[in-house]
Amino acid sequence: MNSNSIESNKYKRLHIKGVLLLWLVTCCNLASGQQENLPNPVLSEQLILTHQDDISATLKLADEIRRFQPLKFQQLMQNLSIKDDFTIEQQHLFNFLKGYGYTFRGELDKAEKQFKSILASDASQLTKFRASYTLVHVYAVKKMWYEGLELVATNIKTSTSIENSDYYQAYLITTIIFYKNMKQYDLSLHYIKELSAQILSPKLDCISKQLALEVKFYLNELKSSDPDTAIAINSCKKTNDIMVTSIIRVYQAKAYLAEQDVNGALDSLLPYMQELDSSYYPELITGVNNTLAQAYWQANDIASSKHYAEKALLSNKNNNNVNQATRTYQLLYQIAKTENNPSSALNFHEKYAELERLYSDDIKTKNLAFQLAKNKNLVQQNKIDLLNEKNNVLAAEQALAETKIANRHLVLVLLTFIIVALVLFALRFWRTHKRVKELAEWDSLTGIFNRGHYTQVTNSALKYCKNAQQDLSLIMFDLDYFKKVNDCFGHACGDWALKAVTKACKSIGRKNDIFARIGGEEFCIVLPSCNIDVAMLRAEACRAAIEDIITDASGCEFTITASFGVTDVKRSGFDLDKLLADADFAAYASKNSGRNRVTLFEVPANEAEEKLDSSWSYS
Ligand code: GH3
Ligand code: MG
Ligand code: MG
Repeated sequence: MNSNSIESNKYKRLHIKGVLLLWLVTCCNLASGQQENLPNPVLSEQLILTHQDDISATLKLADEIRRFQPLKFQQLMQNLSIKDDFTIEQQHLFNFLKGYGYTFRGELDKAEKQFKSILASDASQLTKFRASYTLVHVYAVKKMWYEGLELVATNIKTSTSIENSDYYQAYLITTIIFYKNMKQYDLSLHYIKELSAQILSPKLDCISKQLALEVKFYLNELKSSDPDTAIAINSCKKTNDIMVTSIIRVYQAKAYLAEQDVNGALDSLLPYMQELDSSYYPELITGVNNTLAQAYWQANDIASSKHYAEKALLSNKNNNNVNQATRTYQLLYQIAKTENNPSSALNFHEKYAELERLYSDDIKTKNLAFQLAKNKNLVQQNKIDLLNEKNNVLAAEQALAETKIANRHLVLVLLTFIIVALVLFALRFWRTHKRVKELAEWDSLTGIFNRGHYTQVTNSALKYCKNAQQDLSLIMFDLDYFKKVNDCFGHACGDWALKAVTKACKSIGRKNDIFARIGGEEFCIVLPSCNIDVAMLRAEACRAAIEDIITDASGCEFTITASFGVTDVKRSGFDLDKLLADADFAAYASKNSGRNRVTLFEVPANEAEEKLDSSWSYS
């Protein structure tokens, strides 16, 4: 075969390949539920008659039968072509079906033009989508790989908004086959996975499983023992799909051959030869013959190998599948060499070399288109990679975010814990401090200042009054015969009396008076900014209040009285010890003169003038 004859057969080959692709896609559409309504010719005839004038129904019918009844389809299209009252969308659907018809008949240029005009029109998104993925087939058959890749990229974007599962799955099949034809098996596998995840009709389930096995084979991942093979064959048997079942058997045989298991390969094909031949699908039959020829060659059965190689040549005559033919001629060349037939060997080698050149040109063209598309970011692999990368980044980001949130929670918990601990600690500290302070400042029995704190506060008051040139008076009193109270009524009663005395005197005083218990039953009231007359009155009021205490509440009946001594800074000066001593002296005088009375400290006559003078020297 010379190169001209190869070229002349190219168109035919392209046509048949296109038909195969369309067969698959149409099959998908029909397989997903419409098949029962079809393709009973009688029923179709009735439908045509019933809906002859009904454009919508005729278009629908034409759409449905386009693969199974090509002639009827053509007839319906002719009926429709004379109509002039299409709605806009009906016109677009009609144009799509026209495009399909062109594709089916191999009028690829017309098909391309037709689909392109739909894509440029205001047709519905769905019609455009169908036109677009069918045009991908046209480009594949025309070997316009770059244009195909461009369109596939567009379809992938559009597909996200397609809700019709039939057309969506048809688009997936298109994409899978297109990438498979471009030998981009990873991409093909990606969409096979997406297709498998869909709810598929039995027919489409069979096809998707077959495609998965085929792609797996080309990725060198198909083992002869792969359980998916039996699963796929079972799936295809359900729909009685001999052709797809046979394709699966060929790939299983090829897997056996790759494992050097010739018998396995032969057993995969030979028992099914009748079934395989009945598919009438030349590419498949060529594939079977080539595989058998290869198997026998590996088994050293030259005669059988030659027999099947020649059969492959015969079945490949019309479509001239370059890849298959290359393999056949390569084998025939080797056989001729083994048979010592140099002229045949040369002849086959020439053909093999020519075909191989065409085949490698084809691969180069595909690769070039793919690289070009990749550079223009049209290839989905980039997007898949990017998506995967993005997903990884997102996953990492999410993990990071989760860790951050967890850390934040941990920090919050820790902070809360620390704050609570600090607050508790501070509270405890404050309470202890308060308690210590209380213990240090307050008398625990009566709740008034103790001696220590009293001394401190009184000294401050003295300092202030001295600076401010203000009076300060001091009252001191001692309970009378208190020992007796304790002795006669008990210590508890004595304590009660001490508290009652405190209460009685406290109610009389001012807020800023310094009231303290300075000994067992000795008290002192310091009155800052208070002259001696007022102090005497206060002392007298206290004395009376103490005398008036009713002791019934203590459980004992007794009287309480106290002896008071009063002085001030004018008499005793600003020294606390002196003030106390003088007040004590006066109180002692009260005791001596019969108790229960108030005595003002009187400066002895000989000291009086001098004392008063010096006490008022505030320097
Ligand atoms: P005088 O009139 O001379 O002061 O006679 P007195 O019995 O009060 O004599 P003195 O001042 O010496 O006695 C003080 C008594 O006060 C001795 C002690 O039993 C009693 N006393 C001191 N502190 C307390 C106390 O906290 N509780 C009780 N119940 N009694 C106390
Ligand atoms: Mg005393
Ligand atoms: Mg006493």
